[in-house]
Amino acid sequence: MKAIIKKDSSPGLEIQEIDKPSPGPLDVIVKIKKSSICGTDIHIYDWDDWSSKTIQPPMQVGHEWTGVVDSVGSEVKKYKQGDRVSGEGHVVCGECRNCKAGKRHLCIDQHGIGVHLPGAFAEYLKIPATNLFSLPDSIEDNIATIFDPLGNAVHATLSYDLVGEDVLITGAGPIGMMSALIAQHIGARHVVITDVNEYRLNLCKELGIKHAYHASTNLRKLMPSLNMHEGFDVALEMSGSPSALNDIISNVKNGAKIALLGILPEDTKISWNEVIFKDLFIKGIYGREIFETWYKMVSMLESGLSVNGIITHEFHYTEFEKAVQIMKSGQSGKIILNWE
Ligand code: NAD
Ligand code: ZN
Repeated sequence: MKAIIKKDSSPGLEIQEIDKPSPGPLDVIVKIKKSSICGTDIHIYDWDDWSSKTIQPPMQVGHEWTGVVDSVGSEVKKYKQGDRVSGEGHVVCGECRNCKAGKRHLCIDQHGIGVHLPGAFAEYLKIPATNLFSLPDSIEDNIATIFDPLGNAVHATLSYDLVGEDVLITGAGPIGMMSALIAQHIGARHVVITDVNEYRLNLCKELGIKHAYHASTNLRKLMPSLNMHEGFDVALEMSGSPSALNDIISNVKNGAKIALLGILPEDTKISWNEVIFKDLFIKGIYGREIFETWYKMVSMLESGLSVNGIITHEFHYTEFEKAVQIMKSGQSGKIILNWE
């Protein structure tokens, strides 16, 4: 089969012909229909500091995907050939305290598909059956392909009660845009999103995100026009930018709730005294709740949440190099690779 591989400890990725995997007793082999490119794949492509410490080449990359079951291991009862599936990219231990308590997203020993385990940029993916998610007919392939990042957005956005609240989202990348649409869908009052990239701010407007502003906008000055007087009730940091986190801390009300999803530099400085004197609550978000997030994702899509417009490009996998360059330019939303 064909797969996109990080061959060695240097920048780039390449298509290689490798052996098709066969399932262990508890595994499923999925025939990939579509995959999508994540910022993580770009880090791996660039061979930056994080990826050189995390990835052991050769590694088959990619973790956002949808496909159909090709074959199942001898102990797998729930799936059969032809079933439409997507799946959770974090493979957990099943044995730690959190796993045993059903909080698999808090597992102490997680392994990422396309990071530590062979990934989904391939014609076939081997994955534990317990990581699969059956797709209802209501979910089209393109949307199922982006369930991994949509799940990140759902996990972060549903981590606080947003009904009737004013929400600030920093970073209008795919995940920030998804979160803004979710917050609007579930009944937040005002959802304000910021970015430094005009292409993405325009895309927000096209998607129906009403308040999309350049990060340099003085949000305190804007608040009276939104009948806001004390600051945002909830903020979601989805850029990974220290200045965005500082914007959040200065624009939220006392007692506000903040979720951090964007990966910040280790040396990020914030005003800790403002966190203390404003009585702020800060929560980290990693991955998706397995599988509560997946359930909510489908139910919100079935109740009218639309994220289709976030997918801006689609290529055949043989054109992945072009897709990577468009991602790197910042002039895109989600980019899909077609494996059929
Ligand atoms: P992305 O890089 O496409 O989007 C980030 C956006 O932030 C970009 O559009 C960028 O222009 C914008 N930005 C940069 N500086 C800004 C500033 N000062 N103010 C406002 N916006 C600013 O990323 P994505 O795929 O949407 O993911 C969002 C973040 O979440 C990334 O940092 C990613 O690494 C991280 N992530 C975390 C998890 C997790 O489990 N915690 C999972 C997936 C992604
Ligand atoms: Zn565990």
